[in-house]
Amino acid sequence: KSGFVAIIGRPNVGKSTLLNRIVGEKIAIMSDKAQTTRNKIQGIYTTDDAQVVFIDTPGVHKPQNSLGDFMVKSAFSALHEADAIWFVVDASQERGRGDNFIIDRLKEVKSTPIYLIINKIDLLPKDQLFEVINSYQEDAPQWAEVFPISATEGDNVPELLDGVIDQL
Ligand code: GDP
Ligand code: MG
Repeated sequence: KSGFVAIIGRPNVGKSTLLNRIVGEKIAIMSDKAQTTRNKIQGIYTTDDAQVVFIDTPGVHKPQNSLGDFMVKSAFSALHEADAIWFVVDASQERGRGDNFIIDRLKEVKSTPIYLIINKIDLLPKDQLFEVINSYQEDAPQWAEVFPISATEGDNVPELLDGVIDQL
């Protein structure tokens, strides 16, 4: 089994921390060398029977200054070409404009399963998790699955990987 996973999310939600946990030092090596026209390979996770390539999707993040239409469109085709999309949000902060900017674009993605990854659950009282998950259900695409995780603690990260590999 093999496939591409596109990871997106506004800055500081923990994308790099999650990738570091999954692929470790390979990130640094890959991100220097591998670059396709649209996507930067962030790392590769390999097991005996599966290989998952993680790609960055430049331009899907809310443009800070004058990011052109072209970049945004390129980023979108990356989302369509991926086998799965991991949309990462921060459990310790309310859904905001940065999240909504990406969610609006994700609504246009039709054929790629989108996983909602609620990171930093170590910062969240357990009884608030349901509320956080709920806040990402309205005005959003249909999530293939929702994974509450902690990238720093590693909570639920193996399950997340199993989930995406199963689907490849
Ligand atoms: P990125 O911009 O999405 O790549 O986010 P980073 O991976 O750089 O993380 C931003 C900050 O959030 C860093 O200070 C991380 O240590 C912190 N962070 C990431 N994941 C977690 C988590 O699961 N729990 C906590 N408490 N902090 C986290
Ligand atoms: Mg990062």
